[in-house]
Amino acid sequence: MSQQRLPPPEAPACLVLSRVSRYKGGTIIAEDVTDLATHQKRVCDPDGYRPSWCLRCGGHVLHVHDYAERRLRGPGTVLVVRIIRYLCADRSCAASWRILPAFIARHLWRAWPVVEKAAMAGPAPEQTEERTSVPASTVRRWRARLASSAGQLVQLLAASGTALLEAIAERVGPSAARRALVEVHGAMTRSGMGARLGTLGALAHRLERGIRLM
Ligand SMILES: [Zn+2]
Repeated sequence: MSQQRLPPPEAPACLVLSRVSRYKGGTIIAEDVTDLATHQKRVCDPDGYRPSWCLRCGGHVLHVHDYAERRLRGPGTVLVVRIIRYLCADRSCAASWRILPAFIARHLWRAWPVVEKAAMAGPAPEQTEERTSVPASTVRRWRARLASSAGQLVQLLAASGTALLEAIAERVGPSAARRALVEVHGAMTRSGMGARLGTLGALAHRLERGIRLM
Protein backbone atom coordinates (compact mmCIF):
# COMPACT_ATOMS: atom_id res chain seq x y z
CA MET A 1 0.00 0.00 0.00
CA SER A 2 1.45 3.33 -0.96
CA GLN A 3 1.85 5.96 1.72
CA GLN A 4 -0.36 8.37 -0.17
CA ARG A 5 -3.31 6.08 0.39
CA LEU A 6 -3.05 6.27 4.15
CA PRO A 7 -5.64 8.58 5.72
CA PRO A 8 -4.25 11.79 7.25
CA PRO A 9 -3.43 11.59 10.99
CA GLU A 10 -5.98 12.77 13.53
CA ALA A 11 -5.89 16.51 14.20
CA PRO A 12 -4.31 17.49 17.56
CA ALA A 13 -6.78 17.84 20.44
CA CYS A 14 -6.19 21.60 20.77
CA LEU A 15 -7.71 22.10 17.31
CA VAL A 16 -10.86 20.06 17.68
CA LEU A 17 -12.24 20.94 21.13
CA SER A 18 -15.44 22.95 21.15
CA ARG A 19 -15.61 25.84 23.61
CA VAL A 20 -19.32 26.45 23.32
CA SER A 21 -20.36 24.85 26.61
CA ARG A 22 -17.11 25.10 28.53
CA TYR A 23 -16.72 28.86 28.67
CA LYS A 24 -18.85 31.80 29.58
CA GLY A 25 -18.27 34.11 26.65
CA GLY A 26 -15.23 33.89 24.43
CA THR A 27 -14.03 35.16 21.09
CA ILE A 28 -16.08 36.51 18.21
CA ILE A 29 -14.20 36.90 14.93
CA ALA A 30 -15.09 39.97 12.85
CA GLU A 31 -14.91 38.25 9.49
CA ASP A 32 -15.18 41.48 7.51
CA VAL A 33 -12.11 43.07 9.10
CA THR A 34 -9.14 41.87 7.11
CA ASP A 35 -6.64 44.72 7.54
CA LEU A 36 -5.07 46.70 10.35
CA ALA A 37 -6.33 50.13 9.21
CA THR A 38 -9.97 48.99 9.31
CA HIS A 39 -9.42 47.36 12.69
CA GLN A 40 -7.88 50.48 14.20
CA LYS A 41 -10.78 52.60 13.03
CA ARG A 42 -13.35 50.24 14.53
CA VAL A 43 -11.58 49.47 17.79
CA CYS A 44 -11.42 53.20 18.64
CA ASP A 45 -15.20 53.50 18.38
CA PRO A 46 -17.14 51.99 21.33
CA ASP A 47 -19.81 50.91 18.85
CA GLY A 48 -17.27 49.78 16.24
CA TYR A 49 -17.41 46.12 17.15
CA ARG A 50 -20.40 46.02 19.51
CA PRO A 51 -22.28 42.73 18.96
CA SER A 52 -26.00 43.07 18.22
CA TRP A 53 -26.77 40.39 20.77
CA CYS A 54 -25.05 38.19 23.32
CA LEU A 55 -24.26 34.76 21.89
CA ARG A 56 -24.85 33.19 25.30
CA CYS A 57 -28.22 34.61 26.43
CA GLY A 58 -29.47 36.54 23.40
CA GLY A 59 -29.56 39.79 25.39
CA HIS A 60 -29.31 42.96 23.35
CA VAL A 61 -27.31 45.16 25.70
CA LEU A 62 -23.53 44.82 25.74
CA HIS A 63 -21.15 47.34 27.26
CA VAL A 64 -17.50 47.97 26.51
CA HIS A 65 -15.69 46.02 29.23
CA ASP A 66 -11.99 46.61 28.65
CA TYR A 67 -9.19 46.43 26.14
CA ALA A 68 -6.50 43.80 25.76
CA GLU A 69 -3.41 43.59 23.61
CA ARG A 70 -2.36 41.01 21.07
CA ARG A 71 1.27 40.90 19.99
CA LEU A 72 1.95 39.84 16.43
CA ARG A 73 5.46 38.87 15.46
CA GLY A 74 6.72 39.97 12.06
CA PRO A 75 10.15 40.09 10.46
CA GLY A 76 12.22 41.87 13.15
CA THR A 77 9.18 43.56 14.65
CA VAL A 78 6.37 43.00 17.10
CA LEU A 79 3.10 44.70 16.29
CA VAL A 80 0.87 45.44 19.28
CA VAL A 81 -2.81 45.36 18.36
CA ARG A 82 -5.54 46.58 20.72
CA ILE A 83 -8.50 44.24 21.15
CA ILE A 84 -11.88 45.29 22.59
CA ARG A 85 -14.00 43.24 25.01
CA TYR A 86 -17.72 43.66 25.65
CA LEU A 87 -19.68 42.51 28.66
CA CYS A 88 -23.29 41.32 28.54
CA ALA A 89 -25.38 43.68 30.69
CA ASP A 90 -27.66 40.88 31.88
CA ARG A 91 -26.29 40.15 35.36
CA SER A 92 -27.37 36.55 35.36
CA CYS A 93 -25.36 36.05 32.16
CA ALA A 94 -22.41 38.48 32.35
CA ALA A 95 -20.65 36.77 29.45
CA SER A 96 -17.67 38.66 28.07
CA TRP A 97 -16.84 38.68 24.39
CA ARG A 98 -13.56 39.75 22.85
CA ILE A 99 -13.68 40.72 19.20
CA LEU A 100 -10.81 39.59 17.04
CA PRO A 101 -10.32 40.94 13.49
CA ALA A 102 -10.14 38.18 10.90
CA PHE A 103 -6.48 38.78 10.03
CA ILE A 104 -5.29 37.78 13.53
CA ALA A 105 -4.90 34.05 14.04
CA ARG A 106 -6.32 32.87 17.36
CA HIS A 107 -3.63 31.14 19.45
CA LEU A 108 -0.84 31.79 16.94
CA TRP A 109 1.68 34.59 17.28
CA ARG A 110 1.42 35.87 13.78
CA ALA A 111 -1.10 37.36 11.38
CA TRP A 112 -2.84 34.88 9.09
CA PRO A 113 -1.17 36.09 5.85
CA VAL A 114 2.25 35.34 7.40
CA VAL A 115 1.07 31.91 8.59
CA GLU A 116 -0.32 31.15 5.16
CA LYS A 117 2.85 32.19 3.35
CA ALA A 118 4.99 29.97 5.59
CA ALA A 119 2.66 27.00 5.98
CA MET A 120 1.17 26.64 2.50
CA ALA A 121 4.27 27.40 0.41
CA GLY A 122 6.61 24.75 -0.92
CA PRO A 123 10.22 25.56 0.09
CA ALA A 124 11.96 23.64 2.88
CA PRO A 125 11.31 24.98 6.41
CA GLU A 126 14.87 26.38 6.65
CA GLN A 127 14.43 28.34 3.40
CA THR A 128 11.01 29.46 4.57
CA GLU A 129 12.59 30.76 7.79
CA GLU A 130 14.95 32.93 5.74
CA ARG A 131 12.09 34.36 3.72
CA THR A 132 9.49 34.88 6.42
CA SER A 133 11.50 34.95 9.70
CA VAL A 134 9.21 32.22 11.05
CA PRO A 135 11.44 29.61 12.81
CA ALA A 136 11.76 26.36 10.85
CA SER A 137 10.42 24.39 13.84
CA THR A 138 7.24 26.50 13.78
CA VAL A 139 6.90 26.04 10.02
CA ARG A 140 7.13 22.26 10.55
CA ARG A 141 4.48 22.33 13.26
CA TRP A 142 2.10 24.39 11.13
CA ARG A 143 2.58 22.10 8.15
CA ALA A 144 1.96 19.04 10.31
CA ARG A 145 -1.33 20.60 11.41
CA LEU A 146 -2.33 21.22 7.82
CA ALA A 147 -1.45 17.59 7.05
CA SER A 148 -3.81 16.31 9.76
CA SER A 149 -7.38 15.19 9.15
CA ALA A 150 -10.00 17.73 8.10
CA GLY A 151 -12.80 15.29 8.97
CA GLN A 152 -14.40 17.35 11.75
CA LEU A 153 -14.24 20.57 9.72
CA VAL A 154 -15.77 18.86 6.69
CA GLN A 155 -18.61 17.61 8.90
CA LEU A 156 -19.26 21.15 10.16
CA LEU A 157 -19.43 22.45 6.59
CA ALA A 158 -21.69 19.58 5.54
CA ALA A 159 -24.11 20.37 8.38
CA SER A 160 -23.99 24.17 7.96
CA GLY A 161 -27.19 24.46 5.95
CA THR A 162 -25.37 26.58 3.35
CA ALA A 163 -25.36 25.20 -0.19
CA LEU A 164 -21.87 26.42 -1.08
CA LEU A 165 -20.31 25.02 2.10
CA GLU A 166 -22.10 21.70 1.60
CA ALA A 167 -20.74 21.55 -1.95
CA ILE A 168 -17.23 22.23 -0.64
CA ALA A 169 -17.61 19.45 1.94
CA GLU A 170 -18.72 17.05 -0.77
CA ARG A 171 -15.84 17.99 -3.05
CA VAL A 172 -13.24 17.58 -0.30
CA GLY A 173 -14.66 14.39 1.22
CA PRO A 174 -14.44 13.15 4.82
CA SER A 175 -10.93 11.68 4.70
CA ALA A 176 -8.96 14.65 3.34
CA ALA A 177 -6.21 16.58 5.08
CA ARG A 178 -6.75 20.18 6.21
CA ARG A 179 -4.50 21.47 3.42
CA ALA A 180 -6.86 20.04 0.77
CA LEU A 181 -9.82 21.70 2.48
CA VAL A 182 -7.97 25.04 2.48
CA GLU A 183 -7.30 24.72 -1.24
CA VAL A 184 -10.83 23.70 -2.24
CA HIS A 185 -12.54 26.21 0.09
CA GLY A 186 -10.20 28.97 -1.12
CA ALA A 187 -10.93 28.20 -4.77
CA MET A 188 -14.70 27.82 -4.36
CA THR A 189 -15.11 30.96 -2.23
CA ARG A 190 -12.57 32.89 -4.34
CA SER A 191 -10.50 33.81 -1.30
CA GLY A 192 -7.35 35.64 -2.34
CA MET A 193 -3.87 34.31 -1.58
CA GLY A 194 -3.04 35.27 1.99
CA ALA A 195 -6.73 35.26 2.97
CA ARG A 196 -7.40 31.54 2.63
CA LEU A 197 -6.39 30.40 6.13
CA GLY A 198 -7.96 33.37 7.89
CA THR A 199 -11.26 33.03 6.05
CA LEU A 200 -11.56 29.32 6.73
CA GLY A 201 -10.34 29.68 10.32
CA ALA A 202 -13.01 32.31 11.01
CA LEU A 203 -15.68 30.16 9.37
CA ALA A 204 -14.79 27.12 11.50
CA HIS A 205 -14.95 29.25 14.66
CA ARG A 206 -18.33 30.69 13.59
CA LEU A 207 -19.80 27.24 12.92
CA GLU A 208 -18.63 25.96 16.28
CA ARG A 209 -16.81 28.26 18.67
CA GLY A 210 -13.39 26.98 19.63
CA ILE A 211 -12.79 24.77 16.61
CA ARG A 212 -9.46 25.69 15.05
CA LEU A 213 -8.12 25.26 11.57
CA MET A 214 -4.55 25.41 12.87
ZN1 LIG B 1 -25.58 37.42 27.86
